[in-house]
Amino acid sequence: MNLIQEPLAFELSSPGLVGCALPASDVPAAELPAGLARESLALPELDELTVVRHFTRLSQKNYSIDTNFYPLGSCTMKYNPKANEAAASAAGWRGAHPLAGDALTQGSLELICRLQASLAEIGGFAAVSLQPAAGAHGEFSGVLMIRDYLRAKGQTQRTTILIPDSAHGTNPASCTMAGFVTKTIPSGRDGNIDLKALAEALDDTVAGIMITNPNTVGLFERHITKIARMVHEAGGLVYGDGANMNALTGVFKPGKSGIDVMHFNLHKTFSTPHGGGGPGAGMVGAVKELAPYLPGPIAVRKGGKYALAMPEKSIGKVKAFYGNFGVLVRAYAYLRMEGADGLRRIAENSVLNANYLRARLEKAYPLKYKKGCMHEFVAMGDIAPGIHTLDIAKRLIDYGFHPPTIYFPLIVPEALMIEPTETEGKRQLDAFADALLAIAEEARTKPELLHAAPSTTPVGRLDEVAAARCPVLCYRG
Ligand SMILES: *Cc1c(COP(=O)(O)O)cnc(C)c1O
Repeated sequence: MNLIQEPLAFELSSPGLVGCALPASDVPAAELPAGLARESLALPELDELTVVRHFTRLSQKNYSIDTNFYPLGSCTMKYNPKANEAAASAAGWRGAHPLAGDALTQGSLELICRLQASLAEIGGFAAVSLQPAAGAHGEFSGVLMIRDYLRAKGQTQRTTILIPDSAHGTNPASCTMAGFVTKTIPSGRDGNIDLKALAEALDDTVAGIMITNPNTVGLFERHITKIARMVHEAGGLVYGDGANMNALTGVFKPGKSGIDVMHFNLHKTFSTPHGGGGPGAGMVGAVKELAPYLPGPIAVRKGGKYALAMPEKSIGKVKAFYGNFGVLVRAYAYLRMEGADGLRRIAENSVLNANYLRARLEKAYPLKYKKGCMHEFVAMGDIAPGIHTLDIAKRLIDYGFHPPTIYFPLIVPEALMIEPTETEGKRQLDAFADALLAIAEEARTKPELLHAAPSTTPVGRLDEVAAARCPVLCYRG
């Protein structure tokens, strides 16, 4: 059997094979109503060992943070300590039933309450809600809070949200879903928001601005308090996209910089692995004026007991029960493990690691914004005639590395967005830099190697045009 191209379970199937044989039934057989019975069901027929080997081989094809470095910019693919997994899978948390009621879930409610308080402290917010299930879900919740707050003030003509051109695609999507129109604010030549363009866009139709800080090119928005003041003076509110909080934990409190509502991605910064599509948690925090609008329920402490309560003017529930509870347990365990000093070290080391890589690579891979970065930086991959970022990314696979994020953010041509995270050591950073420098050399001397890459993988480079124009959607062809 060709172990490189793993066959489908259907292709391994052999009629009559079974994984386990059930004992003969000792109760009378009942007929299914005629209309409900299937005439045939195409399931693979396999013995147990074949199934075990099939799935084990598939699992070994996974690239994960447990197997190698994962420099995917904007995603914070850091190592998450296994101790937090153990905490989240402790029987008491895992077995808790969401309908058990406050009296039987005091421990879970206490954890939620403590986590809310810690995250509010880290963000500089009056209150937070742990309901949203992802960053984008937090954005959507936060924008609904802004909508309801403005409605309560009779400001229904405020229908526009301003978004810098470097923003993550979820930002305009969340605003649009919440019923707003969006307007793009260009970045200046330094990669930060163009203050003049912002001033020109501010009028009484503006509901607010959505800001990512540090932004997606890895730069701290130095004028954040000024921007917030400008928007507030024009009657709008400031939403903070906190997906890049990894660069700021324990160092900078967004809630004290003029941001009114903000989400954090617990699955990026606070110890839940991600990349497989969930589950996540997009905690949303708010300053005092906006806190009554938070989604709920949130956990509160009353008369020595913990209970769930709806914030006074809540936008309502955005997720069943308490949100993704396992993610919350991991985040709480992580915060207790790190403490205040540890949180600060996370931010400092994530920034140090990114700047180390940036400095090692900048001669070979030009930067659009040539200054110190925060936790990530964006280089450009068109480093030799006929070579594109895609070629660099594919060649990295041959060197055993997951490629960085490419062609995002859109404001940098041929973007190569690298986020090493604080959990990598110098040896790993050097190995990655060495690979990228070797590729830069190949780009000049043996460009055909880059164009043919990846050449060490079971499947080579896809023909993206054919994949879009003539997709094969069924494995039988
Ligand atoms: C990841 C990310 C988001 C979206 O978060 P999800 O949890 O994937 O929905 C939003 N903004 C930025 C800057 C991000 O990096």
